[in-house]
Amino acid sequence: MRDIVIIGAGTAGLTAAIYACRAGRDVLVLEASSYGGQIINTPDIENYPGIRSVSGYDFATGLYEQATGLGAEVRYEKVAGVEDRGDVKVVTTTQGAYEARAVIVATGAKNRPLGVAREQELVGRGVSYCATCDGMFFRGKDVAVVGGGNTAVGDALFLANIARKVYLVHRRDYFRGSPADVARLREADNVEFVVPAVVDELIGDQALEAIRVSDPASGTSRRIDVAGVFVAVGQIPDNAAFAGVVDIDERGYVVAGEDCVTRTPGVFVAGDCRTKQVRQLVTAAGDGAVAATAASAYIG
Ligand code: NAP
Repeated sequence: MRDIVIIGAGTAGLTAAIYACRAGRDVLVLEASSYGGQIINTPDIENYPGIRSVSGYDFATGLYEQATGLGAEVRYEKVAGVEDRGDVKVVTTTQGAYEARAVIVATGAKNRPLGVAREQELVGRGVSYCATCDGMFFRGKDVAVVGGGNTAVGDALFLANIARKVYLVHRRDYFRGSPADVARLREADNVEFVVPAVVDELIGDQALEAIRVSDPASGTSRRIDVAGVFVAVGQIPDNAAFAGVVDIDERGYVVAGEDCVTRTPGVFVAGDCRTKQVRQLVTAAGDGAVAATAASAYIG
């Protein structure tokens, strides 16, 4: 029997682990793939208070080492479901089952696909969802980034230092991403804004050679020769496994307020997988602290 099982080793989950360990709790973190969550692929973080600049990898690794150093155990198992048996919660994974007195769901979200034909077929052959992972393969080549949020503008800035030219394709002529970063992109002489535009087609047989984009309002379309396209059109949550113990909204997020409390006593939710307005590193970390403190108080 564990005190607290945390599902997900991203910023929210690892922060929850730090707080739960420091509250003297026995903590198991279950992670389906690798620690770090979305932020591990962010080239440069410049908006976490107290840290002027840090790579996503260094930030995530610091969190991981801090949590495990305090005593959290991290196991790489995908969670299939959570069952509420009152004072005991049973967390079932692909490899077994764990009993816990409290559970924190911190599963974040995964990359949303563009939804264009042949997208999956061309992954690894020109289509990528991670500029920091794959950017170097496109040194000196022309690439496109699709999206208008912080991931897209951050990726475009990162790629502008590697690629010969970066086309930033966005369906609107304004961006959700940081205005400061958008201004830096406008000043870069190898970045072209392609807005408003949507990607209609990925062109190339064995590997990507070009994309076709169109302006939905005017109907005009254009072919852009690129060796790579970096898809950064947001994330989608994946919380179906927890439907037995939490409410899930129509967009797939676990329903909870800022207190991170779900409909099941002893089951809490933290980070980007929760219904919330602002999904940032600092709010994920904040949720982790709130959820762990609440879980510890629940255990008593
Ligand atoms: P996001 O903020 O949700 O932005 C997704 C972008 O993709 C939006 O511009 C959206 O367009 C566009 N989009 C969505 N579906 C599309 C489709 N089917 N076709 C074309 N475009 C589509 O996602 P994100 O940039 O990945 O960021 C996710 C969260 O992480 C955000 O809260 C972000 O601020 C945060 N983040 C933070 C940091 C940091 O703190 N340093 C770094 C990266 C990300 P519309 O604008 O038209 O809806």
